[in-house]
Formats: sequence, structure tokens, C-alpha cells
Amino acid sequence: MSTPDTAAPSNFIRTIIDEDLQSGRRDTVITRFPPEPNGYLHIGHAKSICLNFGLAADYNGRCNLRFDDTNPAKEEDEYVDAIKKDVAWLGFDWGEQPLFASDYFDQLYRWAIELIKKGKAYVDSQSAEQMRVNRGTLTEAGKESPYRNRSVEENLELFEQMKNGEHPDGSHILRAKIDMASPNMNLRDPAMYRILHAPHHRTGDTWCIYPMYDFAHGQEDSIEGVTHSICTLEFEDHRPLYDWFVKELDIFAPQQIEFARLNLSYTVMSKRKLLQLVNEKHVEGWDDPRMPTISGMRRRGYPAAAIRTFCERIGVGRAASWIDLSVLEECVREELNATAYRRQAVLNPLKVTITNYGQIEQLDAPNHPQQPGEGCRTLPMSGTLWIDRDDFMEDPPPPKKYFRLGPGREVRLRNSYIIKCDEYIKNEKGEVIELKCSADLDTLGKNPEGRKVKGIIHWVSAEHAQKVPVRIYDRLFNQENPDKAENYLSALNPASLQETFALAEPSLMEAKPGETFQFERVGYFTVDSKDSKTGAPVFNRTVTLRDTWAKVK
Ligand code: ATP
Ligand code: MG
Repeated sequence: MSTPDTAAPSNFIRTIIDEDLQSGRRDTVITRFPPEPNGYLHIGHAKSICLNFGLAADYNGRCNLRFDDTNPAKEEDEYVDAIKKDVAWLGFDWGEQPLFASDYFDQLYRWAIELIKKGKAYVDSQSAEQMRVNRGTLTEAGKESPYRNRSVEENLELFEQMKNGEHPDGSHILRAKIDMASPNMNLRDPAMYRILHAPHHRTGDTWCIYPMYDFAHGQEDSIEGVTHSICTLEFEDHRPLYDWFVKELDIFAPQQIEFARLNLSYTVMSKRKLLQLVNEKHVEGWDDPRMPTISGMRRRGYPAAAIRTFCERIGVGRAASWIDLSVLEECVREELNATAYRRQAVLNPLKVTITNYGQIEQLDAPNHPQQPGEGCRTLPMSGTLWIDRDDFMEDPPPPKKYFRLGPGREVRLRNSYIIKCDEYIKNEKGEVIELKCSADLDTLGKNPEGRKVKGIIHWVSAEHAQKVPVRIYDRLFNQENPDKAENYLSALNPASLQETFALAEPSLMEAKPGETFQFERVGYFTVDSKDSKTGAPVFNRTVTLRDTWAKVK
């Protein structure tokens, strides 16, 4: 196999793989994405998914989706289903079936016995507290357990009893016999199996002992023939342990490669914190459109392609780094600018009467101005319109600086006529409540010679407009690094959701859940997939047209 045929930028992992293939050390590339089903996937996971599945695709290899379900206490089928949905939605294929660490429980148990028989594992019966104290510190060697030199027979018998449920949780533990003085704490006789009388989401009551993640992970990779086991940097110090297990068991040795995890500003990504946001109802659920979860982003209207572009653009390296949320938002804008149909809707309405226009016309308005092939929708025009309040100023700056409406000024109505503001009406509080304008009926679809009308504004016909609920989402946190706050909850943005409505052109009533539109000059909006009913869409603001936070900073 040779260097892959791909446009993807190279990185240090590709370099390692290329060397492995060229030297003949490997003849294929098998990777895996190994989530623990104890929460929903977030954008950090997306980075790992794009990396692992992307490499497998580029090198004509395979990427397994494997659930690391070794801890029955926190794992649930709901999470398994959500994770499968998210990986598939991102556009990746794990083959016939997803794999589960729990499918290997029998094999892992046999390997534990093999290590006991080799004198490489023992049952320890110290209390958790004794074990903690005897583990030592980074500067001080640990102390060997008084149970460390139990005979093989005794260890086998005790381990069997543990498995048969004869001992309570925490009374015994199976440990690898490595080195209590190792400078690497992970090698100080790490735990391999613990007693846990808890039902497992897949194996039910079959087991009351469960393998520790560190005893399971490397061997799972080995069983699956994973050639390049890619993980985040915090597992670098665990690598010698994984290597020790596969060497002692004399099984296929995967190569672990670590990279820096994604940190994104204005978000938190620890599953514990995301779970707390959900449980304490700071958000509506894991798929709340403000959450950094894949399901939240999908509901918000982020296209899968934008997330893939983002993951490619940020690259992979070994240095810890922060990515600004605006980078992700820019990827979303780029994708939606190319794909989203244009529509008209007014969020902050001001009435306009066209004094010389009594009829109703059904205008043709292109779905996507840059892509004529996408066709048109019908846009009704009448003599009474809504425009956005911000598009009129009583005392506007000079015409060279301000292109919208003011007394005596002209603008083009998007997809319709040029109008001129002849008069404006105020209420007793002094607020402008209506404009009286005249339309130049010779300007539909053309600019007569000599006429320079720069401003184009959006509008809807008042009698045809449909009132639709709109949710204006903003960043969930208003601090760049919420984890720096004393309590990250204090960094929650109180204005992250504002519920309002829009007056929308009628064609938007046919919008289907999950569909995204550009409300021209307003932003991108996606029909909520949970709360919309046929003929009654609810719109989530996906992203603004421009980066509004850049100014703030
Ligand atoms: P926890 O929050 O409990 O530490 P986790 O984020 O490590 O959990 P896993 O389900 O173990 O969750 O993650 C699955 C895979 O995703 C792992 O291989 C992990 O390295 C990778 N991953 C998790 N978070 C990130 C991140 N922020 N950036 C890149 N990869 C990540
Ligand atoms: Mg993890």
C-alpha cells in the first residue's frame, strides 16, 4: 500500500502510518472510535471520529465503532443509540455491526487467569484506603501489598470466588504484578478486575466482576487487530501498561498514538459537566441547540459537512490548543451560504403602505440567487408590507454611508420594486409606526438607466405573512473559558435563548423539520426537529450572517 490519494492535509499521524506501510511493519490500516456509552457525543468526539474514520477511508482500511462499556454503573442503551445516530449522521460507516467491549468479557476473563497462572497477577484484599496510601506518590515509591505473594492456587481460587459472587464489592481486587516502585504510577500494580454487583446494559447479571478500562482497552484493540490506536494525550502514560499486557499475553500489539484533544472556547466538554447541565435543567436536554453535542448542533441546524470541514481545518497535533468557537461558526456559515435556500422574514416589524399599489401579485423569487438551477418560489406582493424597523431612520446619515430608508430615500424591495419613502407617521410617544411609500412600477427585476439604488431590504406582505415562533440562540457561556470561573455554571450566558416570533413569507409554512434557510439579511434558521408540527414550524437560529462576537471582544 502506498501514500493515499487524498486532499486531506498531512499530519504527524499520517507520517507515522506512511512509514509503517513503507517499512512493511504494517500492511493495512485499522483504526477505531471507542466511546464510552455514558453520555452523548460532543464536538471533541467529532474530531476523533473524523480522524479515525477519515484515516481508514483514505488508506482503504477499516474503522470500528466500539463501545467501551466496561463500567456498568454509568452506561445505558440510550447513549448507545444516540452515539450510533451521531456517527452515521456525520457521514461515517462502521460496517455491519458496532462492537462492544462487553463482547470480550469472556476472553478478558481467560486472559486474567492466564496472567495469574504466570504469576503476573494477584488478588489483593487491602482496603481501598490502604491501597491508596501504599501506592506512594510521584516522588515516593509505593509499598508492596502484604497479599502480593499469594500463591497461584490461592489467587485462582479467590478470583473464581469473586466471579461467583461470593464476595462483596470492594473486598478484593485483581491486580497486575508489575512494579510498586515504578516512576510511572500506572505501572504500580494497577487494578485489572473489580467486584461490582451491578447489572450491565448488555450482559445483565452474568458478571459481578468487571475489567478495568486499562486492562480492557489495549486487549480490545488487539482482538480487533487495530494497527493504529489513536487517542488523546492523557493516555500517553498508560501506553507502557497497555504494551505490558499485550507482551505478557503474547498477543497482537497495536500501536498507540496520542494527539491533543480539542478545546473550544465558550463551551465545556467534560461529559460530567454536560450531564450536570442536563440534569439540573440549565438546558432542555442533551440535544438542546445550545449544547456542544453533535445532537444539539444537528438540531440547531449545523450541517454535518460543516463539522467535518471544521475538524479538518483545525488539524491534529500534539500541542494542547484552544480553538475559538467563531472558527466552527464560520464553517457553518460557509456551508449554509452555499446550500441554504433564501427566504424573507421580518423579526422586528414596521408597517409600510405602498400608496400607489392596490393589487396583489405573485412574484417569482429565486431559491438561491447564485444557483439559478435551484428554481424559484412564489412570493406574494401587496400594498401593505412589513419591513424591519432597523431599515428606516428618521434622520439618516448621508446617502453614501446609509443605504436604507429615510425620508425621501429610495431602496429596492428584495425580489420586487424600488420604493421611495414619502412620509412617516408617529404615535403619541414619538415612535415611528408606519411609512407611506410609493413604488416605481417600472422597476420589477431591473434598474432603469441612470438609477443608482444601492440598498436592498427584505419585507413580507402583511396580509400573507405567517407568524412563526423563532428561537434566537446565542452562546451558552459568555466567558471564553468557562472552566476558569470558580464554578463554570456562573459563566452561563443568561441571554443564550430568546423566544420571539417572525412574520414569514407563506412558503416557509411548508418547511420540513431539519430544513435550513437563510432569512435574507437576518441569519440562518433551521426548522426545529422536535417541536415543529406540519404547517406550524418553529425556527431555531442556527448562526448569524456575520460574526457578531468579534466586535464584542
Ligand atoms: P470523559 O469526559 O469521561 O473523559 P471522554 O471524552 O474521554 O470522556 P470517551 O467516550 O472515552 O469520552 O471518548 C471517546 C473517544 O473520543 C476517545 O478516544 C477520546 O480520546 C476521544 N475524545 C474525547 N474528547 C475529545 C476531545 N475533546 N478532542 C478529541 N478527542 C476526544
Ligand atoms: Mg474517556
